[in-house]
Amino acid sequence: MAVQPIRLFGDPVLRTPAEPVTTFDKELRVLVRDLVDTMTDAPGVGLAAPQIGVGLRVFTYHVDEVVGHLINPSLDLSDDTQDGDEGCLSFPGLVYPCTRSMWVVAKGFNEYGDPIVIEGSELLARCVQHETDHLNGVLFIDRLEVEQRKLAMRAVRDSDWTGDLVRVSSTLLDAKTGHVLAAKSAPEPVPGLPAAHRTANRVPARPGRDRPPAPGAQPSHRAGSTRCVGSRSR
Ligand SMILES: [Zn+2]
Repeated sequence: MAVQPIRLFGDPVLRTPAEPVTTFDKELRVLVRDLVDTMTDAPGVGLAAPQIGVGLRVFTYHVDEVVGHLINPSLDLSDDTQDGDEGCLSFPGLVYPCTRSMWVVAKGFNEYGDPIVIEGSELLARCVQHETDHLNGVLFIDRLEVEQRKLAMRAVRDSDWTGDLVRVSSTLLDAKTGHVLAAKSAPEPVPGLPAAHRTANRVPARPGRDRPPAPGAQPSHRAGSTRCVGSRSR
């Protein structure tokens, strides 16, 4: 078990788009194990590699008793939306209503490089969108309504982890906007893994998607189970 420190809001790695995985080797499988261990320890519903300081397009999830991972995801989203509370392990204790697509079809690869498809709705769909956002340097506060975002930024300023934030990431934040003003030092590189740089492989949503679940594709996702990507135990 290798639980890694979770990077908090303000760490530049969370705003840096992650790089596609090109080598499906033992090191990648160690990363997937670390993500699962860290997500389970938190506990959380999902965790993306940048949240443990690794700039690669990998995330893990734990939804409805299923633990899985996806590498180099590309998403197909429904126009149909869902409302529900959402949080993030990089924003400890903060939960806000966030609108997401109801359905997602996520294509990518497993840790051995085999193509896989994750298809689901509600919490799984919310989780997949949240974690894929992380791989693009997008955070859930970016998806909030304006008033909710203001509340979130105020809560960030007032949070008891803001002091840790500066210490952990050596980053200065704008007290009003929460935006990064200056990073005194870059996050430490992970040995053997490439540094993150800009990339984007988002697949735009196709219009008119509102499909039923494919039989056997994924476990059913219950209505009302939309609480929070950050923590399972509230
Ligand atoms: Zn998150």
